Amino acid sequence: MAAPEPGPSLVLHGLTAAASPAGAGAPLRGSDLGRVDVQAPAAIAIVEGRIAAVGPPDDVLRVHAGLERVDCRGAVAIPGLVDCHTHPAFGGDRAAEFDLRAQGADYERIHASGGGIRSTVEATRRLGATGLADATARHLGWMAANGTTTAEGKSGYGLDHDTELASLAAVAGPHPIATVPTYLGAHSVPPEFGSADEYLDHAIAEVLPQAAERAEHADVFLERGAFSAEQADRYLRAAMGLGLVARLHGDQFTESGAIPLAIELGARSVDHLEATGPAGVAALAASDVAGVVLPVAALYLRRTQPPARALVDEGAVVALATDFNPGSAFCDSLPVVMTLACTVLGMTPGEALSACTVNAAWVLGRADRIGRLAPGYDADIVLLDAPDWRHVAYHLAGRDIAAVYARGRRVAGAQR
Ligand SMILES: [Zn+2]
Repeated sequence: MAAPEPGPSLVLHGLTAAASPAGAGAPLRGSDLGRVDVQAPAAIAIVEGRIAAVGPPDDVLRVHAGLERVDCRGAVAIPGLVDCHTHPAFGGDRAAEFDLRAQGADYERIHASGGGIRSTVEATRRLGATGLADATARHLGWMAANGTTTAEGKSGYGLDHDTELASLAAVAGPHPIATVPTYLGAHSVPPEFGSADEYLDHAIAEVLPQAAERAEHADVFLERGAFSAEQADRYLRAAMGLGLVARLHGDQFTESGAIPLAIELGARSVDHLEATGPAGVAALAASDVAGVVLPVAALYLRRTQPPARALVDEGAVVALATDFNPGSAFCDSLPVVMTLACTVLGMTPGEALSACTVNAAWVLGRADRIGRLAPGYDADIVLLDAPDWRHVAYHLAGRDIAAVYARGRRVAGAQR
């Protein structure tokens, strides 16, 4: 494989401020999560797609005098956002189901009307590999426009050999932003299989070996009516045996053993946690398993929000993500998630920023390269057209994002 082209070199100057999670380590826990360093005013030097310096404008411009200069006209810089839980590889939409749910329909009625995950599986299979690649690229473009510079992306709407592998290829790209493919083979039991065990036997034997060549993580929907703890254990052990990092959708509707299993296996994260009680919070806090909270999913399904405040206070590793998917969280915006974190989860803007940068990068195994504005990190930078970095959470769905740089290349935003 050819070496990647070196990224561009330039200096971003004219910044009112550059704000970044404090400290150098990862993950951030407890009171460390909310601490943000602000350099004001600031300039950022980028050399071959990596940050070379963040500091007072005069110092940065003197040391990097030979580089191209970009005047940011008073913008505020924050790290490129990291979305560590998304489902971008799908066809069709679920607008009719959204309408039914707004009228008060329950799950059974939606299912009877042809909605639910199976309708997305049918639409995704119909797309074919090229259509799936186009749809995924479109969805990732929406994320980039909202400041995401690294997105995890799951398969799981194909649930057959070819469509699952096509989903992973569609996520892998290449794309203007960085992506991390996750094999979510254990998302749902497809209609052509009689039981979850029969389907898992097939997925583990026939799909997982090739999926493991394309994916970094394996994920399972551990829930009553989906996959049991025993089935999740079997699937994740097989995936880990092929070098994949284990993740779980857990405690979304019921506490079904996701947290104890994740700790036993050494999984990277349990995601959702809407139903997690005090014992689960304490267990996660005492472990190295991250809790990824997804407030949009709870909002769409009108569920109790996950206990994010308790998780932070007790010292768990907490990350935030969109859960972008066509059914329960049709939202590609981490800034909207940050607003929800500050309004319904009881988190502060600083905690929300770190949970969408450093800690999300840690979930994706990249905290040494992304998630901070600091020398040596990838030049993943969001410029806000706002007087203060907190506007990214404060301004609900606001048009604050002026430009997005991924490894030093502008991937979204008008030329200023
Ligand atoms: Zn999900």
